[in-house]
Amino acid sequence: MSRIAFIGLGHMGGPMAANLLKAGHALRVFDLVPAVVDAAVAAGALAAANAADAVADAEVVISMLPASRHVERLYLSKDGLLAKIPAGALVIDCSTIAPASARKVAEAAAARGLAMIDAPVSGGTAGAAAGTLTFIVGGEASALERARAVLSAMGKNIFHMGDAGAGQVAKLCNNMALGVIMAATGEAIALGVAHGLDAKALSQMMAVSTSRSWATEVCNPWPGVLENAPASRGYTGGFGNDLMLKDLGLAAEAAMGTGASIPLGELARNLYAMNSRQGNGGLDFSSVVKLMANTP
Ligand code: NAD
Repeated sequence: MSRIAFIGLGHMGGPMAANLLKAGHALRVFDLVPAVVDAAVAAGALAAANAADAVADAEVVISMLPASRHVERLYLSKDGLLAKIPAGALVIDCSTIAPASARKVAEAAAARGLAMIDAPVSGGTAGAAAGTLTFIVGGEASALERARAVLSAMGKNIFHMGDAGAGQVAKLCNNMALGVIMAATGEAIALGVAHGLDAKALSQMMAVSTSRSWATEVCNPWPGVLENAPASRGYTGGFGNDLMLKDLGLAAEAAMGTGASIPLGELARNLYAMNSRQGNGGLDFSSVVKLMANTP
């Protein structure tokens, strides 16, 4: 069992930390929001006064923050964590951030002799709670081997995609496809409903036909089709529209860096930006269907 510093206890980090506690690891946790720290303490963690205090005697440091700027600030700022993490500790950043940011932080960590992997996740809040996340990893294979036991307490699949930053690239590829598929699925159901079809019957047919996807089967965007989907509880509690917008922006940035063309990814980024401007930025990203139809 390891002494773990866990920084960032939001929708994903909170349940991930809870699963590490359940597996018997000792956690010192920090978040800017006291309420989420209190919840982790109730589950058995120790509260740290700040991030530096959290890492003081850590063997493993895990961060789960919103975006690149938070991760860069945490590790690289003037009194950033890289200078404070004990020698020999392993650093695991699970946030979804720009591949270039992940490489920058990993290089700075290596310069200090610290092993670091980028390990963004797929599986959403339900996967985080159930401990069934997929980890998409970039970094040295030896660092991943050291991380494996800790990652296995939070997830069920681990993919090593390559060197530092490769986990982030692969994660962005996944989310770009997901963003496009969700918008396309919403559009298709909206067309059917406009012709008087029943959204549930249409979705059930699609879920066993060639347009089958996570959007038809698990996170259907039409309210009432799937009881447990965010759409059926006012689009609350899933993967936020603005997080999808962030990821599609990162994909666009990554595409520009290589000259790759991503016409559908760019279109989807604009759809999620429009949905955000409609006031739906905090709702689950499947609320993008509201751009195509007046949902019930
Ligand atoms: P969130 O906003 O719910 O949680 C982020 C937490 O980080 C917040 O509690 C915030 O207070 C804390 N934080 C920010 N700056 C901090 C700092 N300097 N020190 C300590 N704490 C700080 O976000 P989330 O939904 O948990 O997502 C986290 C990451 O995981 C994002 O990069 C997101 O893209 C990715 N992700 C989210 C989902 C999802 O379904 N929500 C799925 C896969 C990946």
